[in-house]
Amino acid sequence: MSRQLYAVLPIAAHPLYLRPCPACDGRGITGDRYEMPTDGGPILLVDVICPVCGGCGNGDPEHLACLADAHAYPDEHDDYDDDDYDDNGQPCPSCGSGRGWNAVQGIGQDDDGDPEGLAVLRVPCGCSADRLVVGFDPDALSSEV
Ligand SMILES: [Zn+2]
Ligand SMILES: [Zn+2]
Ligand SMILES: [Zn+2]
Repeated sequence: MSRQLYAVLPIAAHPLYLRPCPACDGRGITGDRYEMPTDGGPILLVDVICPVCGGCGNGDPEHLACLADAHAYPDEHDDYDDDDYDDNGQPCPSCGSGRGWNAVQGIGQDDDGDPEGLAVLRVPCGCSADRLVVGFDPDALSSEV
């Protein structure tokens, strides 16, 4: 019997905010995660981005202290143009800043596995493949540093 490999993308801890997001306690993720199979590779354990703060963990409604790419939907992608890849100096054509993940909308599940609303998932980007941490025990793999 072959054992299943799992992988997570650890991301740097968020700064300590004056007012951490009350929904996620400043973590930027809800604590739920989903298994996402890859072609011939380990199963990705994908975090659900906190819907209240958008992933930054900041409880400030103005989000003044946030890094632009801390959010699931950064503003600078508003006028995103596929033809501009080579010209705009973005480190990564997929996630833009090279932050290593993309926000992907998926269907959430309740405890019984029934579909429950939409969740925004923090899916590792191809450019962060070498930062993935792999192991056999999903519970021992944390994406929080
Ligand atoms: Zn939050
Ligand atoms: Zn923010
Ligand atoms: Zn990327």
